[in-house]
Amino acid sequence: MIWYPYQQMKNMAEPIRITDAKGVYLYSNNVKLIDSVSSWWSVIHGYRHPVLDEAIHSQLDRFAHVMLGELIHEPVERLSAKLREWLPGDLNYCFFSDSGSVAVEVALKMALQFDVNRGGHRNLVLSLSCSYHGDTFKAMEVGDDADYHFAFGEKKGVIHVPTEIPALEKIFAEHGEEFYCMIVEPLLQGAGGMQMYDISFLERARELCGQYDVLLIFDEVATGFGRTGHCFVADLVLPDILILGKALTGGYMGHAVTVANQKVYNGFYSDNPDHALMHGPTFMGNPLACSAALKSIELFDSENYLEKIKRIEVITRREMENFTDPRVKEVRIMGGCICIEVHDAKTLDGFKRFAYDRGVFSRPFLNYLYAMAPYIIEENELMQVLDVMKQWFGNNR
Ligand SMILES: *Cc1c(COP(=O)(O)O)cnc(C)c1O
Repeated sequence: MIWYPYQQMKNMAEPIRITDAKGVYLYSNNVKLIDSVSSWWSVIHGYRHPVLDEAIHSQLDRFAHVMLGELIHEPVERLSAKLREWLPGDLNYCFFSDSGSVAVEVALKMALQFDVNRGGHRNLVLSLSCSYHGDTFKAMEVGDDADYHFAFGEKKGVIHVPTEIPALEKIFAEHGEEFYCMIVEPLLQGAGGMQMYDISFLERARELCGQYDVLLIFDEVATGFGRTGHCFVADLVLPDILILGKALTGGYMGHAVTVANQKVYNGFYSDNPDHALMHGPTFMGNPLACSAALKSIELFDSENYLEKIKRIEVITRREMENFTDPRVKEVRIMGGCICIEVHDAKTLDGFKRFAYDRGVFSRPFLNYLYAMAPYIIEENELMQVLDVMKQWFGNNR
């Protein structure tokens, strides 16, 4: 018996049985659906990409897994070297793990211990209103999710701030010396409702973190690999710790990485054994995952994905230009993401079925109807996804 995610099992609708997947399409026996969700935003190259399939097959012919405790292998070595070259600044030290939530835990632990190792006593995290950082306990705690509040009670040790510079300045003036880190989903807050905000907020956060000696963490589990239209938001504003997941392996399997800069790494590098980072997920640096990730990055470069994402954004803006409806609160577009926020969540009841009948798989949540398609989507396919959204509001020009 399967226990499904985020579901009240008592009244769950029949799930769609997937029998095949190829490119942007999911197949359910004879039904063909464009996947506008990219399997939780991760399958950026589409399904069954020959290059990624081949990378995994050829590693599988050698070995599927060995641990990273005092062992090394070529896939993890090559991926770390590639990330070092590819990521901005001195984000050079890769700590691998098996999921985004764990990578967030690692980042928070790193930041806290960084302060402990230098003899500090800071005990607060600054994070954003509407943030989501994963479902493990510390990740939930720094997140700002109403479900968390009602199910698990009050949070300690975390202050949430809206993405507005005056509020940010005020909170730093009050608590700046108590923060061991500030964690953000930069520019685009995904699970919190595809909230989008301006780079100037992050620039100011970078300055204040420097001024108050606070580590800045970018959780780019969702935004990384082009979703915002930038390869990483870290290319624009440089964090001390960067977290990547979801699309890291092209969505082929769960893997994530917490990347630290020189300063953070130096805070652990000493003659004192107590200064070591005590963490080690069993499957960290899995060779199959690293092989897929390496090829995924090579594809991203060689096939000019930033151009593809730009094209998605241009088409999306063009198609949504004249779209208005009294039930719609706001339409937000950034890079490879579009979100239609409605005033009342009931407006979206039945949309999933409506889209299914028109060849699109969509999974709106709360007040948010969104699409984050694989970057290989063709213009006509993207128009089909957007048309279905517009048709739902009876507004298809
Ligand atoms: C999905 C997500 C996570 C959690 O990743 P998992 O692999 O599901 O554990 C963390 N942070 C952000 C921003 C995410 O979107």
